[in-house]
Amino acid sequence: MTLTTRFAPSPTGYLHVGGARTALYSWLYAKKNGGDFILRIEDTDLERSTQESVDAIMDGMNWLKLDWTHGPYFQTQRFGRYKEVIAQLIESGNAYRCYCTPEEVEAMREEAKAKGEIEKYNGMWRDRTDYPKDKPYVIRFKNPLEGDVVINDIVKGDITISNSQLDDLIIARSDGSPTYNLTVVVDDWDMKVSHVVRGDDHISNTPKQINILKALGATVPQYAHIPMILGDDGKRLSKRHGAVSVMQYRDEGYLPEALLNYLVRLGWSHGDQEIFSVDEMIELFDLTGCNRAPSAFNTDKLIWVNQHYMKTLEPSYVAEHLAWHMADQGINTDNGPALEEIVKVQADRVKTLKEMAAISAYFYQDFTEFDATALKKHLRPVAAEPLTVVKEKLAALENWVAADIHAAINATAEELELGMGKVGMPLRVAATGAGNSPSLDVTLELLPKEKVLARIDMALAAIAERVANS
Ligand code: GLU
Repeated sequence: MTLTTRFAPSPTGYLHVGGARTALYSWLYAKKNGGDFILRIEDTDLERSTQESVDAIMDGMNWLKLDWTHGPYFQTQRFGRYKEVIAQLIESGNAYRCYCTPEEVEAMREEAKAKGEIEKYNGMWRDRTDYPKDKPYVIRFKNPLEGDVVINDIVKGDITISNSQLDDLIIARSDGSPTYNLTVVVDDWDMKVSHVVRGDDHISNTPKQINILKALGATVPQYAHIPMILGDDGKRLSKRHGAVSVMQYRDEGYLPEALLNYLVRLGWSHGDQEIFSVDEMIELFDLTGCNRAPSAFNTDKLIWVNQHYMKTLEPSYVAEHLAWHMADQGINTDNGPALEEIVKVQADRVKTLKEMAAISAYFYQDFTEFDATALKKHLRPVAAEPLTVVKEKLAALENWVAADIHAAINATAEELELGMGKVGMPLRVAATGAGNSPSLDVTLELLPKEKVLARIDMALAAIAERVANS
């Protein structure tokens, strides 16, 4: 039998990092075992499900390159099948009509609460057949009254729940629509899911689902409930903690490889190894290595992982992602150095691709002003002479290459008996508009010579203006 896992998001929002990690673990487990990975959209909540959210989930999955073998299946397209199974459960005596009004159910709860008992439906219609005519009813599952349900959870270990704690849950509402626990059971059964990997917020549903599966004579899958992700304040990760949507991490300049690597380690470990390529993750990942306790999201660590990948992945590949950020920031890169050259010189200078794009604009765009601090500090009257001399030397270069540019800067410093910085800093501000850049000779080489010379003129004009105004 093929090992089969699934990711079953409800399309009521974007793909958040918790969902992405669940998807990743399911995907890895299937890949590792040569199994299948199913994408199933649980869109039965018609009021809260949106197409926009389905698209957002797909975008997130695609961006992370988590591909699926089957699907996407949509639960709303399977209502016929759910009806069939509900009928089957009624037929076999495992489900029944309940004519209680919501008020009656509420009263049962209140009564149980007053007695200090578990608040649950009391089974009032469980064995009745005196059905009233033309009254609305729901369908309830006949949960076993005795015995225990044991979840052999791969992550959490064995969890035993007494059936006396469970009530006869509603599997079809009064309009006939199936409820969450029923649809999940039918799908996991029909789709031959062998391993259910999901957040431990679902753990209370698991015994109910196991009971229904057993009533249907279905094989009960193995379960792996993954602990929650917490924010740095120890509370469940939410929007309050900043970015939680996968695509927001893209927008903020993280590489998908970095987010995947960060997420795989958030709740799973393999010795003290931190960096895992996707192939390594597939090879080494195991559900048994997952933590039982929740993990806290740590943005600094994500940044560290992102820096690692910006520096070590193929520059041409990182450049594809940088291109997105350049476009996002309205920087036209048609004319100027190849983006992979930018990656090579900037990767170890930034935390994110968004930052890389922002600080690389001067390679593609002219600026009209110099950074105020850099101007004040480096474009002072004393800088006019070194700039003039270095401009002449640069203008005379036959080959616009870093080594010759370097030599021209050196020669200027020697000739004027100045330290390198007294030439280099004004030149850097002139060429880039600001006081920070990769090594100056390399930076200049990436810019067209004419552009550098024109920018030196602009700097000289700024100095002259400063002198005139003083
Ligand atoms: N649709 C559920 C959710 O998004 C997941 C159900 C499951 O994994 O069994 O929380």
